Amino acid sequence: MPQPPPAATSAPPTAGPGDPVDPTRLAGPADPVERTLAPATVAVSAGRPAATANAGLNLPVAFTSTFVASHGAKEPGDLVYGRVTNPSWEAFEQALAALEGGLSTDRVTGARALLFGSGMAAIAAALSLLPEGGTLVLPRHAYNGTLGLVDGLAERGRVVLRPVDIDDTEAVRAALPGAAMLWIETPTNPMLEVADLPALVAAGHAAGALVVVDNTFATPLLQRPLEHGADVVVHSVTKYLSGHSDVVLGAAVTADADLHATLHTYRTLNGAIPGPMEAFLALRGLRTLHLRVERAGANAAELARRLVGHPALTRVRHPSLPDDPGHARAAAQMDGFGAIVSIELAGGVDAAEKLASSVRLWVHTTSLGGVESTLERRRRHKEAPTVPENLVRLSVGIEDVEDLWADLSAALARTSP
Ligand SMILES: *Cc1c(COP(=O)(O)O)cnc(C)c1O
Repeated sequence: MPQPPPAATSAPPTAGPGDPVDPTRLAGPADPVERTLAPATVAVSAGRPAATANAGLNLPVAFTSTFVASHGAKEPGDLVYGRVTNPSWEAFEQALAALEGGLSTDRVTGARALLFGSGMAAIAAALSLLPEGGTLVLPRHAYNGTLGLVDGLAERGRVVLRPVDIDDTEAVRAALPGAAMLWIETPTNPMLEVADLPALVAAGHAAGALVVVDNTFATPLLQRPLEHGADVVVHSVTKYLSGHSDVVLGAAVTADADLHATLHTYRTLNGAIPGPMEAFLALRGLRTLHLRVERAGANAAELARRLVGHPALTRVRHPSLPDDPGHARAAAQMDGFGAIVSIELAGGVDAAEKLASSVRLWVHTTSLGGVESTLERRRRHKEAPTVPENLVRLSVGIEDVEDLWADLSAALARTSP
């Protein structure tokens, strides 16, 4: 039988699975002399084994359900069992923690990441930090899975919800007294509202609330909430971090050792774990995160610029646009504007559906953040009732921008009656 992990309330181990610095297992930016590496270099080099003659450059995928025991009592750092940790997870976790701000001396120290079986598993883990019956302040518009999960919890009396417009800082402040947790998503999916991250983290903490940020849309290359003091960052690793539409994964990152221990225990005891092959694929995808985010963001800004004023559209949302309500805030707190553009069709639902069925290069599909450009009318999902019926979310990929424009503009032309 596997040993149960230590209770969340016990002191965190001084060394163990997911530690940011474990030179016996993984090299890379954990080395103090390398602490000033730029994010692009971290994305390429973190979570790699130490360079050793005749050893593999990459870790092999650790397909194992259990690890051979040391003799006597369990030692800190023992791997134990495949539901507790796995070297393939740890490699990705080290790289993500480094990107979210864990290994740089002038930034947040001690960040640690935990990989989960999906973004929703990571979100469920973060929500488990709420006390029973606690009050959750959250964005009115957010990822529909997050909203569905908390609605179910609220119906069963497990949480009290206070939905707010997350870009309205005063409204969030007014909702905070007595709240146990502030949930931030910025930019929001799919409305692209931009929350004032530094102000909201400070306000949340002043009210005694834990602050969780869903950083899926921005990625740590564009926005690092831990630097602003956020307690936990969650990701759908399915999206940009893995980047190739071939895995479903999630992650939670925190610089607080107690929260890390609690989330790790949650993952272990709820079995919310990823497969080693998915972890390997995600790390392989992460190696090009900086290139993908840069190209997709440039393509998105160019397409958004061309779409503004298009006769088939009533609205274009992208924080790069000078008139976008989130532009100034995004320019101040992000290192780029991301690659999601939301458009609203003048011809309503029919036009939005026509657009989705008319594209040839773009793919009509849910999900986002892959190398390929995709689009979807979000209200085809009944769980997204706060989103306008005629809104189509574009996830701009890394293809040639003229090819993307040619296909999109031809499909848009077909939407007018
Ligand atoms: C997709 C998504 C999620 C959920 O992640 P899964 O990997 O699909 O479980 C959470 N938050 C945001 C912003 C997302 O886009």
